[in-house]
Amino acid sequence: MGTNTVIQAKLVLLGDLGAGKTSIVVRFARGLYYECQESTIGAAFFSQVLSLGDAAAVKLDIWDTAGQERYHSLAPMYYRGAAAAIVVFDVTSTDSYMRAKRWVDELQRQGNPHLVMALVGNKVDLEERRQVGAQEAMDYAEANGLFFTETSAKTAQNVSELFYELGKCFVSAS
Ligand code: GDP
Ligand code: MG
Repeated sequence: MGTNTVIQAKLVLLGDLGAGKTSIVVRFARGLYYECQESTIGAAFFSQVLSLGDAAAVKLDIWDTAGQERYHSLAPMYYRGAAAAIVVFDVTSTDSYMRAKRWVDELQRQGNPHLVMALVGNKVDLEERRQVGAQEAMDYAEANGLFFTETSAKTAQNVSELFYELGKCFVSAS
């Protein structure tokens, strides 16, 4: 691998409205967190270059939704061509977990067969309100070949680790 190797990859976020997708991306790309994230700020696009050592870098083109998930549907065009997907649920909402599993199904049926997928339980700072057990989600992820982690966009817990773990998949795959 040459000194200037940069792998480019499209990454999409999916999940229930309010699960924290935008907050996770804004935390990662801008280092910021807003208590009242606007749910429909228009389709957002963030480009981030991750240096992964050994002269390897991954440029992630990150696509966030514009609130279309409110209707539980996203045009397949949104995730077409994606190399990676982050499916987010809110650990304080069983509904959002159910919906996340449906997104995983949809991506597995219609997406790129080589798609690298992560299932993410967000809002772990609200431990006292937790409804979805970490072990349950972890078992589901393992059975479906997904990377799994729990994050808090609010405290930044595991947020950059999530993107770096995904980034590493592309370096090792190329
Ligand atoms: P999206 O619809 O999936 O993009 O979700 P947003 O990022 O818009 O977040 C929805 C709401 O949840 C906002 O009020 C956020 O401030 C809040 N939120 C997002 N992430 C977290 C988190 O990790 N912890 C807590 N406590 N609140 C969060
Ligand atoms: Mg959003």
